[in-house]
Amino acid sequence: MHNSRLVFLCLATVLCLAVGACGTDSCKHRVAVSTSGYAATLGQPISRVETSDSVLALTFDACHTRRPHGYDSVIVRILRQTGTHATFFLCGSWMEHYPEVTVSLARDTLFELANHTYYHPIPGLVGLSPESVSVEVRRTQEVMESLAGVRAVQIRPPAGEYDSIVLRVMATESLNVVLWDVSSGDADKTCSAEHMKAWVLQQVRPGSIVLFHMNTRGWHTAEALPALIAGLRGRGYKLCTVAEILTHDARAKSR
Ligand SMILES: [Zn+2]
Repeated sequence: MHNSRLVFLCLATVLCLAVGACGTDSCKHRVAVSTSGYAATLGQPISRVETSDSVLALTFDACHTRRPHGYDSVIVRILRQTGTHATFFLCGSWMEHYPEVTVSLARDTLFELANHTYYHPIPGLVGLSPESVSVEVRRTQEVMESLAGVRAVQIRPPAGEYDSIVLRVMATESLNVVLWDVSSGDADKTCSAEHMKAWVLQQVRPGSIVLFHMNTRGWHTAEALPALIAGLRGRGYKLCTVAEILTHDARAKSR
């Protein structure tokens, strides 16, 4: 057998074993392009806030999808019932489908609204021209402002993917690029509520930003939330919006 083919087969076997080793717990916990460094400056993505304070941010994406847009109202009801602060990253086209929900979320002091682009390009913004990226960002800002009278200061690029052009455009638009350091795995249909709760509780640390979905593509999110929120609070965590957690940034405090 040719050497390169042998190497390929070995690598493929190792990968399969690694995936299979998770067994029934093999939820896909999407990894953002960068999950390390943090810089509280425009143009640098934020995956986690540098702090020793017991704070973390729960974030919920409402992605534009080719299927009819969904809205999981149970998630919002649970957040309200439990007095839980959260940030919603909303697509412009999603807000146009749910104008009343958008207004209601904007008026609720528990919540922060943020930008998740207009059409949520797949696989992401990488490779688009600066003009196209700018249109995705600005159009969403305009929809949010005209519907709800608020302007986002955070943006999450689709799939958490970015390049230098994306970062430059976001900085020009005065938007913080917010990723996550803990993916709940809720976009994976096979990820049970029980697994999601255990995974998030195991992964979080002070300053964590946790990724969920609220456009009904988070399959067991609502089911997992009550016990998860209780579990996080039981460990002493204060649940914040992204804007709130950024005020705990050690570097920002030392300025
Ligand atoms: Zn999304």
